[in-house]
Amino acid sequence: MTSGVRLVVLGRQGAGKGTQCVRLSRHYVVPHISTGDMLRAAVKAETELGRKASELMSAGDLVPDDIMVGIVEERLGDDDTTHRGYILDGFPRTVTQADALAQITAARPLDLVVDLDVPVDIVLARLASRRVCVDCGSNYSLEAPPRYGWSCDNCGGEVIQRQDDTPAAIKHRLDEYEHKTAPLIEWYSDRDMLEVVDGQGKLDEVTQRVVASIESRRSA
Ligand code: ADP
Repeated sequence: MTSGVRLVVLGRQGAGKGTQCVRLSRHYVVPHISTGDMLRAAVKAETELGRKASELMSAGDLVPDDIMVGIVEERLGDDDTTHRGYILDGFPRTVTQADALAQITAARPLDLVVDLDVPVDIVLARLASRRVCVDCGSNYSLEAPPRYGWSCDNCGGEVIQRQDDTPAAIKHRLDEYEHKTAPLIEWYSDRDMLEVVDGQGKLDEVTQRVVASIESRRSA
């Protein structure tokens, strides 16, 4: 069996993080921890967290650091992550979150942080055409819709445009990314934990690039 991994994937909205993280979690047989998916589940279940996060998310604003750190700390304490590792998608998103993650993972440090690099003009086009399954989160687009109407190929759920994929919210999320998340690239690079991977090309090629960068780190 392949070894596990403790990985953070950074990248602009629409860079393909979610899709690649699902593939990587199958490859390494570790859970895919997406803070966006966790928050969307909380909104759907109308929990207290969901009520707090809902408006912020629709506007493309970040959920406060202390809430996010709490959620991730709890999840990383679960047995499935402590044994083989995890793929972290959507966290950290600020330097405060990265500092907190360094403390949370002090006993079992990250193997690597991957920046999935896709230029802004390409992600803008991808986000405008993106459609997602409300139940399982599978991704589609206007160019690659589900086989039958707007029902998910994987679970039959309804496939819709995300509430925060409106032009105004997309612009705001990308601005937030440049201001608050992009500084993490330098932060991790300074600590020699970062690999930049070209996120353009076929899905398989991108996955292979990420796997190759993880393996070359390990054998270094
Ligand atoms: P995207 O990367 O396309 O914005 P995500 O699904 O990763 O989509 O996140 C959706 C929303 O959830 C974000 O716009 C933000 O409101 C909230 N969110 C997710 N992760 C975090 C985080 N680590 N810190 C703050 N807010 C977060």
